[in-house]
Amino acid sequence: MEKIRKFLVDNQEEIIISGKESKEAIPIFCPVCDFVMASSMDHDYYLKFSCCHNCAMKFATPRKDMWKKGWRPSKEEIDKYRSTIIHQSPSFILD
Ligand SMILES: [Zn+2]
Repeated sequence: MEKIRKFLVDNQEEIIISGKESKEAIPIFCPVCDFVMASSMDHDYYLKFSCCHNCAMKFATPRKDMWKKGWRPSKEEIDKYRSTIIHQSPSFILD
């Protein structure tokens, strides 16, 4: 619990530092994976990485520098990732 809280505080500080992006409107769907960005975690990560929490964990965090330079996963990677998420969370299937 302690660890989670510290992580959230750290994350928030980084958002404040990166400042100017924080006024951007947050889209309903993640621009990378197209899933709904519903949680406050998603919003926090969107401000930082322009994608949802899951994409940030899967794609952006391991390649922070490349990500900031505009690198994005290939369509194949995203498709593979999306099917993993769908298997993990059946509630994501909307149709
Ligand atoms: Zn995403």
